[in-house]
Amino acid sequence: MHLQVLASGSEGNSTLVRCGETNLIVDAGLGRDDELARIDAAGVPIARIDHVLVTHGHLDHARSAGSVARRAKAMLHAPEAILRHHAAKKAPRQCALRIDQPFELSARDGIEEAPVRVASASLPHDCDPTVAFAVEHRGRRAVILTDLGHPARAVAERLANAHVLVLEFNWDPELMETGPYPHTLKKRITGDRGHLSNAQAATMLELLASEHLHTLVLAHLSKKTNSPERALEAAHGVLDRLGLASRVKVVVASQDEAGEAIAV
Ligand SMILES: [Zn+2]
Ligand SMILES: [Zn+2]
Repeated sequence: MHLQVLASGSEGNSTLVRCGETNLIVDAGLGRDDELARIDAAGVPIARIDHVLVTHGHLDHARSAGSVARRAKAMLHAPEAILRHHAAKKAPRQCALRIDQPFELSARDGIEEAPVRVASASLPHDCDPTVAFAVEHRGRRAVILTDLGHPARAVAERLANAHVLVLEFNWDPELMETGPYPHTLKKRITGDRGHLSNAQAATMLELLASEHLHTLVLAHLSKKTNSPERALEAAHGVLDRLGLASRVKVVVASQDEAGEAIAV
């Protein structure tokens, strides 16, 4: 199983997960042409994308989900309310997922494949519903967790034991304070249903980290109210404290280009 973040940040989020012969995208938040270009650059023909999973209806996650699913003839999976979203409605094949209930993704016709299991967790965020996904294949587990308003133990329990964890490190309090956002937007982002600060992400990392974890991807960093250095400092602080620093590779996901494919 391989995970590759194709884009990460407020301008669009998308992650490619390849499980044997089954390929899936979690979120498609770039414009359609950019999204297709990143999938192509990752070396996966669009027709080989089998499933598109959508975490929530904010455009930086859902923008081209329906059109990419249509182009790929892929199944679009999301909670019922998101399937009615105008960005998702373009997908001719849809499957409503029940939040907090694990499900299996079907393999391409005629392919013998170990099952790809997906678990979802409901997140506090100002778009209802919002979920995060854990994808499991052949005993390996990848978790993608962004757009979380505050650290939540119940979320960590559902998404524990990842080998690869993609975790939101959205904002830094000092840079938020001095940053360009209007007061109302600052309140929204820093609120209980907004996004994780570096310190909140560090708390979440502490709840999620286990002996399985080997790669941590810092995701959804704000270009205006965070810096890779500050996010890395927060992440390394927790990993040092937990004695995991030498075992866990930490990378920062980019808005502007696809990251490396990570073997889960
Ligand atoms: Zn969001
Ligand atoms: Zn977002």
